[in-house]
Amino acid sequence: MNALPAVDFYDFESMLSTRERAKLSELRSFLAQDVAPHADAWWTSATFPSEILPRLAELQLSTPVQQGYSHLFTGLLIAEMTRTDTSLATFFLVHHDLFVESLHQFGTQEQKHRLLADAMALRITGAFALTEPEHGSDVAGGMVTTARRSGSDWILNGSKRWIGNGTFCDYMLLWARDADTGQVRGFVLDASSAGVQRTRIEHKIALRTVQNANIQLTDVRVPERDRFPGINTFQDTNQLLLGSRLMVAWQAVGQQLAAFDVARAYAVERRQFGRPLASFQLVQQQLVQMLGNATASLAMMARLAQLQDERGSVQMEQVALAKAFTTTRMRETVALGRNLLGGNGILTDYRMARIFSDAEAIYTYEGSHEINTLIAGRAITGVSAIL
Ligand SMILES: Cc1cc2nc3c(=O)[nH]c(=O)nc-3n(C[C@H](O)[C@H](O)[C@H](O)COP(=O)(O)OP(=O)(O)OC[C@H]3O[C@@H](n4cnc5c(N)ncnc54)[C@H](O)[C@@H]3O)c2cc1C
Repeated sequence: MNALPAVDFYDFESMLSTRERAKLSELRSFLAQDVAPHADAWWTSATFPSEILPRLAELQLSTPVQQGYSHLFTGLLIAEMTRTDTSLATFFLVHHDLFVESLHQFGTQEQKHRLLADAMALRITGAFALTEPEHGSDVAGGMVTTARRSGSDWILNGSKRWIGNGTFCDYMLLWARDADTGQVRGFVLDASSAGVQRTRIEHKIALRTVQNANIQLTDVRVPERDRFPGINTFQDTNQLLLGSRLMVAWQAVGQQLAAFDVARAYAVERRQFGRPLASFQLVQQQLVQMLGNATASLAMMARLAQLQDERGSVQMEQVALAKAFTTTRMRETVALGRNLLGGNGILTDYRMARIFSDAEAIYTYEGSHEINTLIAGRAITGVSAIL
């Protein structure tokens, strides 16, 4: 049989530069050799593979736009990583797109000098601590973790929940409400500080390789030099959250490409009634639906990336529409893929079960499906239905 066509059916990759295509191919080799053979085992045992970080760092992929790559390359990089291992991609985007990017955007010269090179090279790792046990979707207005000024220090009290990389990171970008002014402040908190207690969240059915933590802060003393002076309201974090939300929408693309990869290979191999599954019309219809969903999502994200490259930025409501749309398509795509593997689709021995389960986390984090829908809904009607 002739080689089957690439999953990038409309060849979006041809829009990349030669340098970018070469880098993507380096990433693919790393993923094929160092990640794909182990990803199911890491997921099943809920173990984070710290040992691969030096190899990942050698690829020099931290915050690509800061290094002169296009936004399209940045998105395809996250999609490709997700296509092999959603958990690794999530580690990557929490560390680079939130922690490192925040140092680029908000760090003082002294903070950058002290942390940036080590963070970009993964010699230190970071987390992003915003969500709280009682405040998820409404954390902007509802945040109860406080920061109180005490001489040249700040004293932090409160708790955070779901913090990715939280069990092992060296630093967390932590958000707290100024007890005196009520404004939100951002701190680069040394995770080994006295009064920081981290507890791993157990029993997850998605992104099991990612180490999520509950964080308890009891009279944690942070020097003023570890505050981001450029953050004075929650609005100041918007550009940062916009960037990471875009990357999560790119994850929804990668998740669909992965589901299609696995389902197509299975349908071609597996025989029933004396013929390959792929020969049945209803099976072909499901595969076409999956590829259509993935391609529509990819096209939407590629257009947003073009706008970013042309104009420097896009609007939060444009990103919200993309996150809401791509994750809806993703849920349908992974469910079809799960179905096409029959009973094997629910076994963790087959990649599809991991792809199916991990999609649920993508659906919820970086603004749940409903919150992103309501942000887009507010923009197109002029009426807010969030509150
Ligand atoms: C695997 C994983 C990793 C994460 N990593 C991080 C991290 O690194 N750092 C971090 O800070 N946070 C992280 N989060 C937290 C994530 O951002 C929150 O889970 C998310 O914002 C939703 O908050 P919640 O879980 O408290 O749900 P809730 O806000 O309680 O929402 C529950 C349900 O109600 C719906 N809902 C809420 N308000 C409305 C409304 N006004 N209208 C309609 N529906 C509504 C939601 O859409 C959802 O379906 C992570 C979460 C997960 C699952």
